[in-house]
Amino acid sequence: YVRAIAPYQSGKPIAEVAREFGLDEAKIVKLASNENPLGMPESAKRAMFDAAAEVGRYPDANGFELKQSITTKYGVSPDWITLGNGSNDILELAAHAFVQPGQSVIYAEYSFAVYALATQAVGGRAIVVQAKDFGHDLAAMSEAIGADTRLIFIANPNNPTGTFLPASEIEAFLKAVPSHVVVVLDEAYNEYLAPELQYESIAWVKQYPNLLVSRTMSKAYGLAGLRVGFGIAQPVVTDLLNRIRQPFNVNSLAQAAAIAALNDTDFLQKSARMNADGYRQLTAAFEAMDLEYVPSCGNFVLVKVGDDDSAGADVNLALLKQGVIVRPVGNYGLPQWLRISIGLPEENEIFIAALKKALT
Ligand code: PMP
Repeated sequence: YVRAIAPYQSGKPIAEVAREFGLDEAKIVKLASNENPLGMPESAKRAMFDAAAEVGRYPDANGFELKQSITTKYGVSPDWITLGNGSNDILELAAHAFVQPGQSVIYAEYSFAVYALATQAVGGRAIVVQAKDFGHDLAAMSEAIGADTRLIFIANPNNPTGTFLPASEIEAFLKAVPSHVVVVLDEAYNEYLAPELQYESIAWVKQYPNLLVSRTMSKAYGLAGLRVGFGIAQPVVTDLLNRIRQPFNVNSLAQAAAIAALNDTDFLQKSARMNADGYRQLTAAFEAMDLEYVPSCGNFVLVKVGDDDSAGADVNLALLKQGVIVRPVGNYGLPQWLRISIGLPEENEIFIAALKKALT
């Protein structure tokens, strides 16, 4: 079944676009991978450089200090944590731990591409539940559960659509899911939620032994290149994930930087504020241009750039020629749309100007 897997499509690298279109790398704006446009926090950079002196040694295989920081921040003990090489690692570990060939995995249409990959990689049978208003239809997802269902992936907020499920809906869903089915609640964009939307998923972890909450340091924390994520669940789950993960799956520079970033609340607040401003900037431009977009709770916006099925690819190419990299989402079944990561104010401006040009 490996040959049947369509490879993951990441954002086009800056160097590649520069070469392909004969552009100056320094002038390229990349709004394609939902990264933090501020880059990594200074505190994390310092911690990483300090840790560099010790890279002759193996990293701490169990991430003792990093788990301590997570423990302090999220109020769970270290044995409730599994560290991952990015949160993608956590998603894959969950599939490996719980799904045998032929068993089913449920996820939503227009949801994160890695759910399909992780399912296929273990020979699982995907049940893709039709989206409702671009987001998860939790009622339909719980109806789709069968005797052979082992895993359900839910992204909140969802990528690539930015849709959000309120706490009450998730809670009702968790109550309805039978205990033999593990629910992965992927909260990669949680830190961007407006204060009135925040909810306490860790309290659910304490209540539901079949819930695994996944978090990442790649988005608001600004450490995408270092690859750190973590799963929080009861020890019955984390113990299994820890058995099958690579012993040194989070390197020592990444561990040091993650500890600093977790403690850097100023950076996190600044990032969330900037994201909210950037969201207003982009959506105001879309409204002025009369373009439909999906209201987003993440650090990206899905915008419709035409009515033809070639629109996404065409406008993407026109943007690339102007040195702006965004994300086409044809592979998600959304060929008329583009996903734009929210950048620095000046990057958003460059994108808006390029989009206007591309559409005329
Ligand atoms: N979950 C979702 C919903 C995402 O959008 C992403 C990043 N694109 C990830 C998980 C994985 O990110 P990482 O492996 O960098 O933690």
